[in-house]
Amino acid sequence: MKTQQDRQRRFSLEFFPARTPEGNDKVREVRQGFAALKPDYFSVTFGAGGSTRDGTLEMVTQISDEAQVPVAPHISCISSSREEITGLVNAYQKIGVNQLVVLRGDAPSGSGYDGGDFSYANELVEFLREQWGDAFHIEVAAYPEFHPEAVNAEVDLHNFKRKVDAGADSAMTQYFYNADAYFGFIDSIEKLGVDIPVVPGIMPITNYTQLARFSDRCGAEIPRWIRHRLEAYGDDMDSLRDFGHEVTLQLCQRLLDQGAPGIHFYSMNRIEPCRRLWVELGLVDL
Ligand SMILES: Cc1cc2nc3c(=O)[nH]c(=O)nc-3n(C[C@H](O)[C@H](O)[C@H](O)COP(=O)(O)OP(=O)(O)OC[C@H]3O[C@@H](n4cnc5c(N)ncnc54)[C@H](O)[C@@H]3O)c2cc1C
Repeated sequence: MKTQQDRQRRFSLEFFPARTPEGNDKVREVRQGFAALKPDYFSVTFGAGGSTRDGTLEMVTQISDEAQVPVAPHISCISSSREEITGLVNAYQKIGVNQLVVLRGDAPSGSGYDGGDFSYANELVEFLREQWGDAFHIEVAAYPEFHPEAVNAEVDLHNFKRKVDAGADSAMTQYFYNADAYFGFIDSIEKLGVDIPVVPGIMPITNYTQLARFSDRCGAEIPRWIRHRLEAYGDDMDSLRDFGHEVTLQLCQRLLDQGAPGIHFYSMNRIEPCRRLWVELGLVDL
């Protein structure tokens, strides 16, 4: 079995489709700035945080046309039929996509959620392998601090393994600020015989209120000492961002020093926080 540090490192950046054409023009500029950093790939979220699902195909097509950086669309299965997934995956294959981030997704509240043909991400991974064989590199989600709906840690780890057994090639994590949670997760999955790279997901810290809201929803923990420092900055956004930068920089450095196979940055469609981390980590010679 390969350890995480034996893996080829991959560095990637995530975007979400904007809701308006003007918003998408802005994201295009951000993307072009990021393309200069030569990431291994961009990923584009699917219906996350209320963004439209159609916007994902549109943005993925634009990135594919720009032909600067490979692109991996996220695809989630909750409330989708096999036919819908088939149509979407065929559309991606037609434009040359060969990598997918495969997720269950969350039912939007008040959506009249009808269940669809899939209940969990492992079922979608299985369906993709059945229908498209090895046409796609399949990436799945991992939760070092466990998924918010997890029955318990052990069950959640076994559920992660189901996705790997169904054919996932690699994983990227939910964001976290406690490196030990990541290393503990890696130890646990290795004991289960899981043999794929698990790339840490990193969320820059730029706004305390927003981060606290996201973290409550997705089950990521903001350690107490970080929360207290962030709260104390109040409206002093420059100091908050500098502190947030130092925290995430040290986190990334420790993860890489101890063998993490790359980093996936949640860009939130903003260039500066990730570019600063990227440059100070020495990921590109500008
Ligand atoms: C890197 C990353 C990117 C993301 N991108 C998006 C996005 O673009 N769009 C979006 O809507 N959301 C996105 N999400 C959020 C994600 O959809 C949610 O976290 C969702 O709640 C779980 O998705 P999953 O694929 O991890 O689900 P699963 O792996 O299916 O797990 C969900 C829960 O069900 C349990 N479980 C899993 N399999 C089984 C099973 N067979 N039987 C019983 N229980 C099971 C697990 O333990 C877990 O508690 C992303 C998350 C991450 C970490």
